[in-house]
Amino acid sequence: MSSNDFIILGKSIKRGQRTILEMDVAKLHTRNSLRIPIIIDRAKIDGPVLLLMGGVHGDESNGVAIVREIIRKKYNRPKRGTIICIPVFNIFGYLNQSREFPDGRDLNRMFPGSATGSLASQFANKFTKEIAPLVDYVIDFHTGAAGRENFPNVRCVFGEENTFDLAKLFGAPYIVNSNYISKSIRETMHKMGKTILLFEGGKSLELDQSVIDCGVDGALNIMKKLKMQDGEIIIKKDPIIIEDSKWIRAPYSGMFQSLVKNGSKVTYKTVLGKIYDPFGEFEKKVFAPFDCYIFGLNTAPIVYKGDAIFHVSTEAK
Ligand SMILES: [Zn+2]
Repeated sequence: MSSNDFIILGKSIKRGQRTILEMDVAKLHTRNSLRIPIIIDRAKIDGPVLLLMGGVHGDESNGVAIVREIIRKKYNRPKRGTIICIPVFNIFGYLNQSREFPDGRDLNRMFPGSATGSLASQFANKFTKEIAPLVDYVIDFHTGAAGRENFPNVRCVFGEENTFDLAKLFGAPYIVNSNYISKSIRETMHKMGKTILLFEGGKSLELDQSVIDCGVDGALNIMKKLKMQDGEIIIKKDPIIIEDSKWIRAPYSGMFQSLVKNGSKVTYKTVLGKIYDPFGEFEKKVFAPFDCYIFGLNTAPIVYKGDAIFHVSTEAK
């Protein structure tokens, strides 16, 4: 491929050109075709290719809103290189306001996919074959699933120095060491030699402006680092680095109320929340098992014994 050509989905994008393409996802039995828009902006000057994607889980609205805001602010028009935006990756789930594909599968556990697999697997395969090879860097925007609210954080493998350094420049309040999950987009991109950051912020089916701002500012910082946008990298506060984390699980079943703020630091034996029955007969406190940072919490009003309720660091350095 000569450097003049940037060919995506069979279309050549010239330097300085902006295009919206549509990738076929599926042909429905209703005879409608399902396509997802892909917005491509190529600078006049060559440089890296950055992919921004949201809505891999269809109910994770903040991620969609982050990519949308980047487009609206025209941050996706690079000074150098190419920026590809896919605001709604799992369009099925997005329309249904559900995490999964219509066949019940989690798209983020279907990569690299297969041309003869399930609907989700075929879509994953198409992305892996046609889009993934073209990109150098990826930011994949997520939110907490199933009523869990994540304090804004960037996830990567700390042992990978370049990725970790990039994560620090994103400027989110937390950076969380997170191993590759089998068959996830992150694992597939990593195996292809790409650099990928995963952003987590807020919870599903909710738009949280502070989370959206954090994601947009972070993506802009990465673009500045890659010299795709001008200006200085802005980091409001040094991020808290979480090397090892765990979920504190509900010691009882019952109605659950958190008494701590997400994102806060707590000390050993702090009362984190309470669990009680509806009849006024029992009420139990949940204590911090050690000094820790809290960066994820369950917002469900009712929990069962063993449910994950607080995502915490195992150390509070
Ligand atoms: Zn997700």
